[in-house]
This record gives sequence, structure tokens and C-alpha cells, in this order.
Amino acid sequence: MANPIISLQDIGRDFHYEEALFSALDKVSLDIFSGEMIAIVGASGSGKSTLMNILGCLDVPTRGSYRINGQETSNLAPDELAKLRREQFGFIFQRYHLLSHLSVIENTLIPAIYKGTAPGRRYQQAVDIFKRLGIDSKADALPSQLSGGQQQRASIARALINGGKIILADEPTGALDSSTSRQVMAILRELNDQGHTVVIVTHDMAIAETTDRIIQINDGSVVADTSLAPCKLGQHYSQEKNPPLGLVQSGRGLFERFFNAFQMAARSILSHRLRSALTMLGIIIGITSVITIVALSNGAQQLIGSKLGDLGTNVLQIYPGSGYGDKDAGAIHTLTIEDVNILSKEGYVDSVTPMIRVPLTVHYEHVIADATLLGVGASYFRVNGLAIEKGVTFNLSDEEEMRQVAVIDQNTVEKLFDAEKDPLGEVIWLNSVPVRVVGVLQKNKSLLSNPGLNIYIPYSSTISRVIGNTSHLTNVTVRVADQHSSEVVANAISRLLTSRHGKKDFFIENNQDFIKTITDTVFIITVLISCIALISLVVGGIGVMNIMLVSITERTSEIGIRMAVGARQGDILWQFLIESVLVCLMGGFLGVGLAFIIAFFVGLMSFDIQMIISWEPILVASISCITIGIFFGFLPARNAAKLNPVAALARD
Ligand code: ADP
Ligand code: MG
Repeated sequence: MANPIISLQDIGRDFHYEEALFSALDKVSLDIFSGEMIAIVGASGSGKSTLMNILGCLDVPTRGSYRINGQETSNLAPDELAKLRREQFGFIFQRYHLLSHLSVIENTLIPAIYKGTAPGRRYQQAVDIFKRLGIDSKADALPSQLSGGQQQRASIARALINGGKIILADEPTGALDSSTSRQVMAILRELNDQGHTVVIVTHDMAIAETTDRIIQINDGSVVADTSLAPCKLGQHYSQEKNPPLGLVQSGRGLFERFFNAFQMAARSILSHRLRSALTMLGIIIGITSVITIVALSNGAQQLIGSKLGDLGTNVLQIYPGSGYGDKDAGAIHTLTIEDVNILSKEGYVDSVTPMIRVPLTVHYEHVIADATLLGVGASYFRVNGLAIEKGVTFNLSDEEEMRQVAVIDQNTVEKLFDAEKDPLGEVIWLNSVPVRVVGVLQKNKSLLSNPGLNIYIPYSSTISRVIGNTSHLTNVTVRVADQHSSEVVANAISRLLTSRHGKKDFFIENNQDFIKTITDTVFIITVLISCIALISLVVGGIGVMNIMLVSITERTSEIGIRMAVGARQGDILWQFLIESVLVCLMGGFLGVGLAFIIAFFVGLMSFDIQMIISWEPILVASISCITIGIFFGFLPARNAAKLNPVAALARD
């Protein structure tokens, strides 16, 4: 007699209930031969499903020996058991256990995907099986769109896709009406006729009697084993040699598995859009804020560069007082035009420009207003980045001739002139001095701009014509001659002015220091806010982990089904890890996209600061998304991979 394809020897299976031990199976010995069609019958709770799970390598016995084709299974690793499930067995469940978010043909293809069958080939196999089972018209439907009988056919198709040498059906007709039950039994009989070994669990004797052999179980023991028909052993099946067990994988196989895990993860994300979107939210917010902040900071630095860059690095500013914000500075009147004249004769000075700021009253025709008079040099406008809208700025000869010409800002235009009136060439009165408007400045959007009405006239005219010779200066700008270090010159000027004034009642600012202070400040603020954004990214990552953990609980039965049809632990781990990384990456892409949209609108709103998005934060964002996905996805993915197939299947 041929060797049995399945051989159980004194199998026992114990379950622990708190302290107590319960034997669901005890001393079960059984041989099943290739080509048999067997029914396992017994009352509910007698241990039929427990036996079936052991037969199908979903569960391992507590004791005894289980051999498949003569090979002992008790010392096989989880992935080797998965290989047996994938390649030797085909499972059919009472409640079909199809994945609801995949079409029936996609459900059917899962075992073939895990086996590594080439895509074209496995698809053809599935189509052929569907035709044989009469459900080819339903291939692309979702399981929920099928009747119970059709769903059971789909699950039979899934059992057959990898060959299904041994078909294990646990109450396959339990959820079907009697005529559909007969059809399903007819299919199983036909499969048996074609050589498949079929084992059916049922509590329906009428169903059992259509098989060739009935094994009766009671309280975990085999109480009867009756043959109804002559065994047609070897009739269809030449006893072929079982392929060796093992986990040898070719490189292509690994790539395929990875690609398939990727596809399944993508399918899962797409079929749970709302959940995926919520998962991504934290990542989106984090990435958007990081990129936006860095872009704003870039913009701010560029703005500062453009506003202050013209100042040049070899320019020194002299102010009265001990520093910015010195309250007594207004009372210091020692910085005068005399200082300017003396400084201009020094060899280390290229040029000197004084600046005087005085409040006064301006009037034009019947309008009278408070204004600020700024007596400046001709280079003031260029140095401070003030652009002219119409007319001209005054020039060196205006300065030398002390002409009474003025450049006015937009505030002054609006205050003094009617909308249709052209201010150019008009004479306005500063206190009682007439000056002619020669230029109008563009609206100054700078954060550093002076509020109120600003009227600029040559400093020489200011001193001689408007406020008299005795006046003190608000500020002196010194351009250091080439080949001189501004630091050395600052020291020399400091010594000179200190001796002239009798004490150091002024301070000298190097523009370079000034620019550096501001850029440093912007940088520190950027780093601080970026840290907050990074924290939000980490919180987003924890959110991903949270939802992945919940989703695994929710999808435990999916994981159980996948394992039952032969998924390795690695397949499950990869699927969930890739899903987590994909979710994070998609969140990252959406975050980057959102940052670009924000930048676009910031651009439209003509703020002074523009967002400058560079590739570095995008690269960093992508890397962080992948890292977050792996880091926060690993624990849930590993939990999923470590699930016990039987326990997972039982969950619904
Ligand atoms: P059935 O013949 O109805 O399929 P089962 O094989 O499912 O019976 O169960 C047999 C016995 O083992 C039952 O008493 C059941 O409560 C128990 N049992 C089955 N699975 C488990 C488990 N995972 N943990 C504890 N007890 C179990
Ligand atoms: Mg059962």
C-alpha cells in the first residue's frame, strides 16, 4: 500500500483556560491517502476545527507527530509551515474569508502572489479556474456583490490557484442553502475526481454521506472511521515526490515579493482613503511647517541681504549716545558738521555723509501737516534702497549749491496733493522755507520704513536754509577708503571724535556687524521654530503608529486570511512597513505641495518677505518621512507578523 500523504500519530492539542488545561484533541491517529475524499463529522465543540487547523499547518499540535508525505512538521519554522500552506493546501472556510476591499480575482491571486508565480501566468490560471467554476463573469466584482454560493466558489478558486493538492474545507456549506450546498459539494467531488485530496468538516450527515470516508470525532477523539466507497487511491495521482521544504529564494523572487507587498500596501491605502488621509494629517502639517519656515527664513535673509547689502561692508555709522535705544542720545548735541568736515580730510575716509532728522510743519496751499525733514546726502537713496517713482533724486551739485529741492514720499503726496495733481515742480513750505519737489519715492513696503510724512532735502540746504548752522547731526555715515580695515578706521575715528568731544558720547556701528546681528537673529529664530515644527513631525509619526496599531487590530482577520493562504511573516511585516512608509511619504509629498501652494499665495500677496523653497528641506523632508514611516511602522508591522494565524482567523 502507498504511503499516506498525511499521517497523524497520537496527536493532542491542549488549550489553557486561566489555570486549567483543556484537551481539545487527544490521541488522534489518522492516515489520509492521496486522492481520498473524507468527511470529518462530530458535534459542535468536538474538536473538528482544531483538527482541521492542525492538518492545514495553521496550528501546531501540543504533542504527537504530524507527517506530510513522510516529513515531520513539528520542528518546522513558521515560514516553512507557511510554505506548506501555500503550496500543498487549499483552505475553504465556512464564511468564505475573502478580503472585502479586493475584487474576487484579486482575492484568488493572493496565494499565487505569495508563491511567486509570474503575474501573467497566475492571472491566466485564475481566469481558467473561474471558468471551470462558472464565476468568470464576476471576476472583477467585490465579494460583497456576490451571492454566498459565488463567494464560496471564489474561495474554492483561491484554494486551487497554487494547485491545492489537499483541499481542507471547514464547514464549506454551513452558510449556504441546500441547493447551493449541493452545487458546492458537486464541485468538491469533481475536484476529487480530478485527483485532489479533499477533507471536509461538517456536522451534516447528508453531506458527509456524499464522501468516501467518514471520520467521526467526539470530545477530541476519533470514535469511528468508516469507508463508504472503495478507495480510489492512486487512480488519478501518481504518487509524486514532494518538493523539498526550504526557504531558498531567488533575487527575482525577493523583488517580486517586495513589489507585491508594495502593491498590497497601496491597495490598502487606497481602499481606506479617509483613514489614510487622517493618518497623513500629522505628517502633512509637520512637513508643511518645516518647509514653510525654512523658506520664509530664506526669504527673510534674502530680504535683509537686499535691503542692507547696498550698505557695503566698508561703511561705518556714527550715532550720538552710548548705543541703540540710549534715551539720553537726543540731548547730545556734540556730533556736528564740523566733525564731518574734519573726518572728510582724513586719509582713511573715502567720503562722509551727515544726516539730520528734524520734525517740522509742512504746508502746501491750504493743507498743513506735521512732517519729518531728513537732511541727507545724494547717495542716501541708493544706500538705503529707496527707489524713485517719478522725477529725480537730488544730485551732488544740488548738495553743493544748497538748492532748495525736495524728494517726498508717498505719505506726503497723499497728504498734500489731490489725486490728480502732479506734485513734481510744486513748491511746498517747510516751516517758512519754500522748497521745490523734484522727485517722489515709491511706496516703501519695508518693515524698516519710517511712518508719517518724510521729506528729504540736501543736508547742506537743511543746515544753511532751514534750521540754521548751529544744529547737531542725527547720524554720520563714513565710507572707509579702500585698503583700510573698517575695524582700524572705526578705532581711529573713535579716538579722533573722543578727543574733539572731550568724552566718548557716540557709538560707531559697522554695517557688517549690523547685518550679521540681524542674520544671526533670523537664523536663531528659524532654528527655534523649526524645532517646534520637528516636534509636530514626531507627533505626526506617533499618530501614524497609533493608527497603524489600531488598523492592525481592525485587520487581524485579514492578516489571518493572508497567513492561512501562505503569507510568510516577512510578507506581512513588509506589507505593513511599506504601508506605513507609503502613508508617511504621501503625507510628505502633500506637505511639500501645500508648502508650494502657501508660497504661491504669499507671493501673490506682495509681502516684503517671499518664501524661497530650496531642495534641501524637501530632501530632508523625504528622508524624515521614510525614517518616521520605518521607525513608527516597525512595531505595528512586527506585531502583525507575529500574530498566530488561527487566533487571527478566529477574529472577525
Ligand atoms: P468544532 O468541532 O465545533 O469545530 P473546535 O475544534 O472549534 O470545535 O473546538 C474544540 C474545543 O476546543 C472547544 O471546546 C473549544 O472551546 C476549544 N477551543 C478551540 N480553539 C480554542 C482556543 N484557541 N483556545 C481555547 N479553546 C479553544
Ligand atoms: Mg468548527
